Amino acid sequence: MLAAAVPGPRPAERLTHRIALRRHRRTKMIATLGPSSATVEIIERLFRAGADVFRLNFSHGSHEDHAARILMIREVETKVGRPIGILADVQGPKLRVGRFGGGRVHLQTGKTFRLDLNPTPGDALRVQLPHPEIIEAAQIGTSLLLDDGKLRLRVTHKRPDHLETEILVGGPLSDRKGVNVPDVILPIPALTEKDRIDLAFVLDLGIEYIGLSFVQRPEDVAEAKAIAAGRAWIMVKMEKPQAVENLDAILALTDCVMVARGDLGVECPPEEVPLIQKRIVRAARALGKPVVVATQMLESMITAPSPTRAEASDVATAVFDGADAVMLSAETAAGQFPYEAVNMMDRIIARVEQDSDWRAQTDARRPAPEHSSSGAIATAARQVADTIGAEAIATFSSTGSTTLRVARERPASPILGLTPSEATARRMAVIWGVHPLVVSEIHSMTEMVARACRAAQAEGFCKSGEEVVVTAGVPFGTPGSTNALRVAVVK
Ligand code: PGA
Ligand code: MN
Repeated sequence: MLAAAVPGPRPAERLTHRIALRRHRRTKMIATLGPSSATVEIIERLFRAGADVFRLNFSHGSHEDHAARILMIREVETKVGRPIGILADVQGPKLRVGRFGGGRVHLQTGKTFRLDLNPTPGDALRVQLPHPEIIEAAQIGTSLLLDDGKLRLRVTHKRPDHLETEILVGGPLSDRKGVNVPDVILPIPALTEKDRIDLAFVLDLGIEYIGLSFVQRPEDVAEAKAIAAGRAWIMVKMEKPQAVENLDAILALTDCVMVARGDLGVECPPEEVPLIQKRIVRAARALGKPVVVATQMLESMITAPSPTRAEASDVATAVFDGADAVMLSAETAAGQFPYEAVNMMDRIIARVEQDSDWRAQTDARRPAPEHSSSGAIATAARQVADTIGAEAIATFSSTGSTTLRVARERPASPILGLTPSEATARRMAVIWGVHPLVVSEIHSMTEMVARACRAAQAEGFCKSGEEVVVTAGVPFGTPGSTNALRVAVVK
């Protein structure tokens, strides 16, 4: 489906077109699709403006909607000749209250409120909480947060079929609002029945990453990995304090991670969120696993054509932290200015990355080399490229592992991620600094070097006489064995 980009000359027009779509920034961008971005024209516009990966949010929309969007993204991909990543974000055990007579009530601070298993419409005194396991797990004193933390209840009595609570912070409450229970490890797996059905459906259609919501334990990740069976990377969403406590064990298992600040900021005190963000980004970078900073990045652009100064600073902070990607949610899914939001994010990232202080910080925060020959080769590729001022580092990788190792080094030279696998090229869309490209299978080192030089030139990274650093795992197709390093002069 994607053009095998490298061999042979291409018509001049096609070439200019391709080079025009080269990103001039390292940090990638994920844009969530929704009602505001539901046509192939808008998706193409968002891609051209800078979205590298599109996110489908399975908390909303039917299977038909998601299938239609996947087709649209693939249509754009064919048209622009660039691999595009798709993130299927499954809802997970998002807890919700039931419905109210009249749709909404007002909970009064200081009064009591009952949460029970009775499905009849609720009122100002009680409502259904259709999750017996929370009633079971709650203790006297447990906090329950409603509607993104706007309302707060505290459990005062516990019975087998209901909880009595005191309303600590009241306010309006309407049908099916979310419930967060930050204090307790809930005895529920991260994958619900709905998630399993959604995954079976979407994995058949072909996507690159599975967003796993409300992960608490490493076992949640293992379960999702077993279901994905290599067909997609797992992206754990860090949005529970229990997941933050289990960070190392979760990171060891997952392929990618997202700092999901929406629910994280409800479950944890807001002042903890920036520190948790930095901690997760640092830990993921040390392992060379892609890390995404998400939610409310340009929130005010849902209804305004320009962001607040604080939002611009927030995006800049994620770029300074060294995240692989930053994400837009409602801004592009349901907002009035999806194109402007992508364009603004692209401008902020590009501007930060031109700053000499950004480069200095990126270099200062580089994790220590991995203690393996693969790690040493990746470090060497970056050092050689920096020393000679190579125009690009070309990586050959069938699974993406060599490319991930080089990206972990956050080199100054752009990374050309060459792979014979279309699926791998698409997955590389989320990796910091990587320009992914599908090439046909290669069989020798000589062929590899020639191919890398041609690709680098065709993609506008370098001219004749300039240098490209080439790295790969040889023999090809054995993942995790980065062992070859060459400096090539482009003919
Ligand atoms: P959500 O996840 O948008 O699916 O809730 C992201 C977050 O919580 O930040
Ligand atoms: Mn969330």
